Amino acid sequence: MLPRLDARQRLRLRRFKMAMAAYIMWVSLGVFAFVTDNLDISKEVLFVVLGGIALTNLYFYIMIRSGLNKRINDPSMTAQQITLAFCWVLVLMVASSEVRGAMMMVYVVTLLFGIFRLNRRGFFAMTAFALIGYLAVVFADYKLFPERFDASQEALRTMVLTASLLWCSWFASYVARLKESLRIRNTELREAVTSTSRMATRDHLTQSFNRRYMMECLSREKTRAERTGSNFSVCIFDLDHFKKLNDKYGHLVGDQVLTAFAYLARQALRATDVIDLDGEGRCFGRFGGEEFICLLPSTEEEGARKCAERLRRETAESEFEDGVVVTLSAGVAEFVPGESVADTLQRADEALYVAKQTGRNRVSCASGMTAPEIEAEDSTDRDDDVVVRGVFNRNSSGS
Ligand code: GH3
Ligand code: MG
Ligand code: MG
Repeated sequence: MLPRLDARQRLRLRRFKMAMAAYIMWVSLGVFAFVTDNLDISKEVLFVVLGGIALTNLYFYIMIRSGLNKRINDPSMTAQQITLAFCWVLVLMVASSEVRGAMMMVYVVTLLFGIFRLNRRGFFAMTAFALIGYLAVVFADYKLFPERFDASQEALRTMVLTASLLWCSWFASYVARLKESLRIRNTELREAVTSTSRMATRDHLTQSFNRRYMMECLSREKTRAERTGSNFSVCIFDLDHFKKLNDKYGHLVGDQVLTAFAYLARQALRATDVIDLDGEGRCFGRFGGEEFICLLPSTEEEGARKCAERLRRETAESEFEDGVVVTLSAGVAEFVPGESVADTLQRADEALYVAKQTGRNRVSCASGMTAPEIEAEDSTDRDDDVVVRGVFNRNSSGS
């Protein structure tokens, strides 16, 4: 079984296939030239070259397909592939002096494949290899067949080849640099988009979700609840006497307390099984000022109340800055099918108001508030499961 290729390996395989297509093109032309007597090489040489090309390409294919290429320095094996192609060109140049002019073009086309991977140094190293190989062939020709050696012709050919390869190297390394800078820009752009979308959804001080994002979550949750028949609850948390805290310790400390509270809340809520913070329920955010909100998907009011109560207790037991303690009041409401998100929030806010009115540092639920009087209890004397329940009526209880 062949391993599944990741995106990079698929790209490498695609490039390998492009190189194969170039080979097929040149080999077909070569075979055509051979059968039409335009290639003065022996059958044996032709077979050696064809077999060699097939074997070396099989090697590259196996390397990429098996993933063995990832173990070497350059997994794209660009330099290796170009070097081997140059070698086959050199073999043909040695075998036939007539074919040399045409082979120069193959040199240049082969070098262009380096655009995928080579840097400027790589291009010039490949150029040097190709030129030295070519000069060695010319020199061997001069030594072996001095009578047919045309020095001025060879000098001209060498100059044309040098100029072509150098120009190709310069051009290809320029394109490779452009490609690299595009890749860097793309990465920067992706990072910028990620950070912008984070900024758009987070509150800059506490790094919790911001009001806009929370409103989106609520509206999504309402749609989901209505579609699936599930329910959800919201808790609004408001830090008690925060104005006094600011006055006493300064605004900066106030900011630090807000940040520390948000952190504590995220940890505390993550620890509950009521809320899935990694999934859809990742919804704790700053609603504004010292007010926070928590959305609990698939949670009834009682579950939400327990959750809020746990946070209330942990907050009251924590010391945020040196000697700075703070408490919170919370209002809890469960979504009632048919009502708007604003209605649910309004009921949670009204419950919060009750908690404030009845002594602070407590959790109040929107349900059960049917009696005209508010049942007030001092939550500092109570355990976890005690909660203030009563009717909320801003006009009657607010004054
Ligand atoms: P209550 O118990 O009734 O909630 O009293 P409170 O003082 O917390 O309520 P109030 O709404 O009167 O005041 C809220 C204060 O929160 C006022 C403001 O100075 C403070 N506050 C709001 N946003 C920030 C903030 O970003 N940083 C700091 N340090 N303070 C803030
Ligand atoms: Mg407050
Ligand atoms: Mg407030």
